[in-house]
Amino acid sequence: MKKILTVIGARPQFIKAAPLSKAISEASGLEEILLHTGQHFDEKMSDIFFTEMKIPQPRYRFNINSLSHGAMTGLMLKEIETVVLAEQPDLLLVFGDTNSTLAGALAAKKLHVKVAHVEAGLRSFNMQMPEEINRILTDRLSDYLYCPTDQAVLNLNREGYANFDAQVLRTGDIMLDAMTMFSETAELHSRILENIGNKPFVLATLHRAENTDNLERLRAIVEALEVINRDIRVILPLHPRTRNIMRESGMGSSLEILEPVGYFDMIALLKNCSWVMTDSGGLQKEAYFMKKYCVTLRDQTEWVELTECGANVLAGAEKERILASTAQIAGKSFNVADGLYGSGNTALQIVTHLQNSL
Ligand code: UDP
Repeated sequence: MKKILTVIGARPQFIKAAPLSKAISEASGLEEILLHTGQHFDEKMSDIFFTEMKIPQPRYRFNINSLSHGAMTGLMLKEIETVVLAEQPDLLLVFGDTNSTLAGALAAKKLHVKVAHVEAGLRSFNMQMPEEINRILTDRLSDYLYCPTDQAVLNLNREGYANFDAQVLRTGDIMLDAMTMFSETAELHSRILENIGNKPFVLATLHRAENTDNLERLRAIVEALEVINRDIRVILPLHPRTRNIMRESGMGSSLEILEPVGYFDMIALLKNCSWVMTDSGGLQKEAYFMKKYCVTLRDQTEWVELTECGANVLAGAEKERILASTAQIAGKSFNVADGLYGSGNTALQIVTHLQNSL
């Protein structure tokens, strides 16, 4: 039996872990131990995902959050190292681009334990973003790099990965697996549409540091959403960090601000919204999976194939540009191209690769 230690800690990682944990539990010769760093810790940001998606309870759970990046990554590194030493896994598996991702990869690599990175190869080419730093370092530490897109493979090739002792595979996007896996159940279980009523709405989220930690950007985005809200209501399930900053600065009073929602409610909102406005990475793709246009409230996106095919408009954080981008897509529809993100069998591809490689 080969032992996999999976490190998770933040909302998107719970969603990405669900299909992979299921595939590992059904595969012969592999066992998984989950470690939750506690980077996201409140009920709405963490526990609800475990309950809804039936992710196995983590064997290790830390409570490392609300600290500076250095302090958080350092503490995680220390705690994960202890677990790696105790468990002696054959592989440590991480997702995405958070501090938990980097700390996990670094702890394992220094102990000569193999590292697998799911969502490898993504680049925004903006080193001001903490996520970009985490991605680049995690990729370089990884033995197995599971890329969601052709662009991700290309990014790694350009960085010389063919010369490194690492395997780069194009497996598709694990979030497509998650959405496929939970779509039907979400429809049965979510009550959010009853709660918000059936008038058309735009779905918005806002949590990236580049926006929340810059009041000028945040204010411009919120003002644009308020203008849009005069024509079509804007539903904003809001990250607690953004909520606090907006409350303290008296922004966004006309918007329909919700607590963060569980994944089932999010799927229901995605399915029924008119379009999406977000600075989230994951939501840009989920909008596409649901055939909804996305106005991205950032200056760059890692999901360039979406801007190339016109399903996603990069609007940055200037009010007029956001409004112009929104006018460009409002009321329109587009066709989804086949296979940009694989076919929803990413978990199986990863598990098969692990079975053959470990
Ligand atoms: N999400 C959710 N509830 C929310 C906001 C987001 O379930 O209130 C889901 C969303 O559908 C996506 C994931 O969380 O699957 C994205 O997480 P987030 O936006 O926090 O991170 P990012 O993708 O930007 O790293």
